[in-house]
Amino acid sequence: MPTITDLLEAPGPPCPRCHRLLTKEIPLTLTHTGGRWFDCRACKHVFRASLSVDYARDDARRRLTVISLENTSVAQRLSILERQAAEGTWSYTMLHDAHGTTLLTSGDLQALIGRATTLARVHGTRGPEAIVASDIVSFGMARVYSVLAEPAGLAIHVFHNRTSAERWLDAIERSGSTDRWKPEHSGA
Ligand SMILES: [Zn+2]
Repeated sequence: MPTITDLLEAPGPPCPRCHRLLTKEIPLTLTHTGGRWFDCRACKHVFRASLSVDYARDDARRRLTVISLENTSVAQRLSILERQAAEGTWSYTMLHDAHGTTLLTSGDLQALIGRATTLARVHGTRGPEAIVASDIVSFGMARVYSVLAEPAGLAIHVFHNRTSAERWLDAIERSGSTDRWKPEHSGA
């Protein structure tokens, strides 16, 4: 079982041998370009991989920027939610730039929404999330996700490019209010 320390760390790539996510980056100064070394804490396998999720936090703007590459797992997506909540940034806006294609099942999407709903009971309304999906498959899947997430009070909008996604988030920030993003069917 992952501990809270594991969850607070940036999500590592899954271990290519045992497929678990309990991987830890090995700090090395001399690495090949584009790759980093990881150590699997479950099976002790050491491997080189590119990070498939990059996570940046801007406290001045109260914005999180997540860049995911293709084939991110549902566990990695869940760890983004966990980290957002654990670091006290649940109400921040999130720009999620999804590169390449990631196929999530409807069960995966429900798991993400279920976890976000549980976290929202503790941390309040989650900040709006703009998903940038440049390919048609990811765009369609993200649209399904946003529609399923709406009754749960999650404001998720999907865009074809980063410029329009940022424009939407900027407009929300300028209005200075997230009141209109409160859930309509709040059980609280
Ligand atoms: Zn392993």
